[in-house]
Amino acid sequence: MGAPSKGVYLFFSDVRGILKRAVGTCYRYLAVTVVLLGATLSTGCIYDGLVLEDGSGFSRGPSRYGMLYEGVKLPTRGEGHWIPPTWAARGLNYGVDEMVSTVVYAGRRLKMQDSRLELAVGDISRAKGGRSPWHRSHQTGRDVDFLFLLKDKAGRPMRNDRMRKHAPSGAERVAEGEKPAVFFDERGNWLLVEALLESPVAEIQYIFVQEDLRQKILAYAVKSGVSQAMVEHATQVMKQPSDSAPHDDHLHVRIYCPWDDVSAGCVDMGQMRWHKKDLKYGGRVERIRRYDEVLSNIDVGAFAPLLR
Ligand SMILES: [Zn+2]
Repeated sequence: MGAPSKGVYLFFSDVRGILKRAVGTCYRYLAVTVVLLGATLSTGCIYDGLVLEDGSGFSRGPSRYGMLYEGVKLPTRGEGHWIPPTWAARGLNYGVDEMVSTVVYAGRRLKMQDSRLELAVGDISRAKGGRSPWHRSHQTGRDVDFLFLLKDKAGRPMRNDRMRKHAPSGAERVAEGEKPAVFFDERGNWLLVEALLESPVAEIQYIFVQEDLRQKILAYAVKSGVSQAMVEHATQVMKQPSDSAPHDDHLHVRIYCPWDDVSAGCVDMGQMRWHKKDLKYGGRVERIRRYDEVLSNIDVGAFAPLLR
């Protein structure tokens, strides 16, 4: 008997490859499951109940002319978030699962950091998205409004149930002769921004907020000693909108199209990944140049036996 022919050998090595890949995939799923279970148990359930990805709902079109298919409903009350009556009555509490999960995550995280912080959520989208009397955007389940986190005169966090306008000082705008009793809480609002930027399921495109209040949030972030990268990220994502109200009474947050919604027709408008240009024109070009240098110095001849 001679050695098996090359064809037979290739057939078996193919089968072996397929089996290997299948087993590898199983292990990966198993590993992910174990990690998620571990996270659930060890973080006081911050991830518990997050809609990780069931693949059903999606966002279609740009934020101003779009639809939401199979949106997920944000509960009126959760651990760390609530929808005040004005917004609960409207029923615009539907979003893509990545959006709703991010809101739930941010609420829990704030509560975990300080039990006095409570995230008040305004509108997301109607159950099927599309136009509503209150917004131009908010049509595809990727926009959400948050009422500001507030504090009293002594700096204690306060519950917020309506959109109050704030002066550049941070004090609520009140009628002449009245003294403001409610203030913009730069710490609470920073912790919210930070939670959003660290969402495990969505990437934030914009956080619209009035410029003076934006500066207050950033100043707090710098003072509290977060990383420079985080401050830079927040600086890029937070904007005072140029074509609508200045957002001195709430934060408006938009997430990028989840990657698997893009092929279903989800459209991102405006700024793309904030770091893209840095990667493209900064570090990456430099790295490619160095790789080219390294590659050009490799003596391929020395590795020739490995390539057979
Ligand atoms: Zn909004």
